[in-house]
Amino acid sequence: MVFAFLFGLALGSFLNVCIYRIPLKKSIVRPGSSCPGCGAEIRFYDNIPILSYLMLLGRCRQCRTPISLRYPLVEMMIGLLSVLLFMQLGPSAKYLFLLFFTGALVAIAFIDLEHKIIPDAISLPGLLVGLAFSFFPSAGISPVDALIGAVGGGGFLFLVGVVFEKLTGREGMGGGDVKLLAMIGAWMGWKALPFIVLLSSLTGAVIGVISLLMAKQDIKSRIPFGPFLALGALGFLFFGDEITLWFYRLGR
Ligand SMILES: [Zn+2]
Repeated sequence: MVFAFLFGLALGSFLNVCIYRIPLKKSIVRPGSSCPGCGAEIRFYDNIPILSYLMLLGRCRQCRTPISLRYPLVEMMIGLLSVLLFMQLGPSAKYLFLLFFTGALVAIAFIDLEHKIIPDAISLPGLLVGLAFSFFPSAGISPVDALIGAVGGGGFLFLVGVVFEKLTGREGMGGGDVKLLAMIGAWMGWKALPFIVLLSSLTGAVIGVISLLMAKQDIKSRIPFGPFLALGALGFLFFGDEITLWFYRLGR
């Protein structure tokens, strides 16, 4: 359990690098991290997940530029999600695969929130690994389920976008969202998609109305849908059985 937490923290730390660099089209391998304020290289003892943020009180050691709260937040989230997955799956290939999927969803959510884009550099490899995962006997879904999920998920959002554009003359669904739901469909199978789309749309609508009321935002300012799709997929990954049962009872 402790190992799963520490492993999750380390993965979260790497995902922070991805979240910062992939939208800027920078390498995620080289060079080492540096402060965006003063350019000072961040030394290993200032790069320890969560602890360094606390010890530095959220500021660069050299120039005191504030460090985004996103860094400890992502580390803590992946640390906890790793523990949850480990509790369900134990030390297994499935744990590693689903941790990869979880990490990809979290990275996409934060990048979409900040930049309003979903990089192909994450969603397309994620889609392929998801299809490969379905060939494992322990995956829980068959390759056919995964393939229908990918084509169905992507195809559905693509059609929604086409219809929306025909009706309103505005682009409603980005290509990034289409590829993200294709990736989610590959990992979770087509049967999960109606629930995930419903969960994402409901939370998206609620948050949309709240932010409209609170910030008095222009109704046309676009709220990214990617974070809600990611949240819906994570919700279904961890509570899929409960959610299915709940809808089933509701239907009766
Ligand atoms: Zn600095």
